[in-house]
Amino acid sequence: MTGKNKIIYIDMDGVLADFQAGVDSLTEGQLSKYKKPTLIPEFFINLPTVKGAKEAVETLANKYDLFVLSTAPWNNPQAWSEKRIWLDKHFPEFKRRLILSHRKDLLRGDFLIDDREVNGVSGFQGEHIHFGQPPFRGWEQVLNYLLNK
Ligand SMILES: [Mg+2]
Repeated sequence: MTGKNKIIYIDMDGVLADFQAGVDSLTEGQLSKYKKPTLIPEFFINLPTVKGAKEAVETLANKYDLFVLSTAPWNNPQAWSEKRIWLDKHFPEFKRRLILSHRKDLLRGDFLIDDREVNGVSGFQGEHIHFGQPPFRGWEQVLNYLLNK
């Protein structure tokens, strides 16, 4: 994944990793003990992948320079490692291509695929592809759009 012209940043939670599936699998006990899913040990490392993400990344890598741009919770330092380990397990092609930041607007690139507008996404200078919102309901729509650019 080198030598391509345009850069795409891809968010993790809700885009590559199925955050909601992880939330749905939590027990009452876990939630009451840690208050927030993002503070639960091994929450991030056990997330399943989002449908179609694996195939979409493989296809996009032929045309674009891909990086993962995610935010890890400041109050859960273990989550920072979990994201790195999760990526190695499910998307080893992103080796040394993981950026963790609370200021996604500071990164220079052409596209940012993200399901939210927080952590600087709304100030990103390239094009924000709002994953999960029409017309980008899922990976199929995102892939069609980016392959025809
Ligand atoms: Mg997200």
